[in-house]
Amino acid sequence: MRCAAAIWVGSALALGAGPGRASPVSDAPIRVVYDRPGRPESLAIYHEVRKRRVLEGLREIAAGMRLPRSLTLRFSACRGEADAWYEPTNRTVTVCYGYVREVEDRLPWDAVRAREMGPGRRRGMRHDAVFGLIAQAFLHETGHALFDLLDVPVLGREEDAADQFAALVLLELPPAQARHVVDGITHLFRSLAADEPAQAVLLADDHSLALQRLYNLLCLAYGADRRAFGYLVASGALPRPRAEFCEAEYDLALSSLHALFGRHLRGGRLERARVRRAFRGMF
Ligand SMILES: [Zn+2]
Repeated sequence: MRCAAAIWVGSALALGAGPGRASPVSDAPIRVVYDRPGRPESLAIYHEVRKRRVLEGLREIAAGMRLPRSLTLRFSACRGEADAWYEPTNRTVTVCYGYVREVEDRLPWDAVRAREMGPGRRRGMRHDAVFGLIAQAFLHETGHALFDLLDVPVLGREEDAADQFAALVLLELPPAQARHVVDGITHLFRSLAADEPAQAVLLADDHSLALQRLYNLLCLAYGADRRAFGYLVASGALPRPRAEFCEAEYDLALSSLHALFGRHLRGGRLERARVRRAFRGMF
C-alpha cells in the first residue's frame, strides 16, 4: 500500500476481531535496515536516524505485538523519491530519506523558532516535530503491516485506520513531546493542504484530504488529554463543534484498538511505558 508523501492521522474504523479466532503462536523477528543513501543531501539524515536508533525504537513498539511472520522496517534511498509504503509481498515497511527531507523543507523554521520561545514551549520543538513526523510515517505504514500480518478486519478506509493506529501510539508520549509532535503535524498538513487543488480526483483518493486528516488527529489529541491540548480549541485550531465529541472519539478509538489487537498485544493493551522507552532516543 503506497502512501505517497502521505502522513497519517486519525479517524477510522477497524472493527471487530471476533472472539473465536485463533491467537498467533509464534514470535517472528523484526528486522531493521538503514540503507546508505548515495545522495549527499540524505547522508546527514542517514547518520542522524542511525545515531538516534529510530528503527530500533520503532521495532520496540512493533515488538509489543506477537507477530506470526517476520517484518522489516527500512530507511531507503528510493532513488530520490519522497515516499513511504508497506509492501505485503516481502512484509517490509519503507520510508525514504527523501520523505524526511520533504518534511524538513515544509516545516517553517521561523514560525517554529518563534513558538519555541513562547509560553509553555521548550526549545527543541522543531526537532520533536521532525522526529514525530518520521515516527508517524513509520507507524502509519506499520499499521498497514499489522492489519495484514495479523489479519485484522478493517471497516472504513484502511488509510484512515492506519492514521488512527499511528495517532493512538504517538499520543502515549509525555504531553510536552506529544504537543510538539502534534504542532509539527499541524504545520505539515496545512502545508500539504495548501498544495491540494479542489479536484474530484483528490476527493476520490483512498486518503482523506490533508485538513481532514489534521482535524482527525487534533480531535484525538484533545480527546486524549483536554488539559494538555486545550490550546487547540482555545486557538481555534480545532473547531468547537468537533471538539465537543472528541473525548468520546478517543475513547472509542482506543477501546477499538484494544478489542482488535488485544490478543496480539503483550499485556493485552498498548503499553505507555513501552512507547516512551521506544522513543527515548528520538525525543
Ligand atoms: Zn497508508
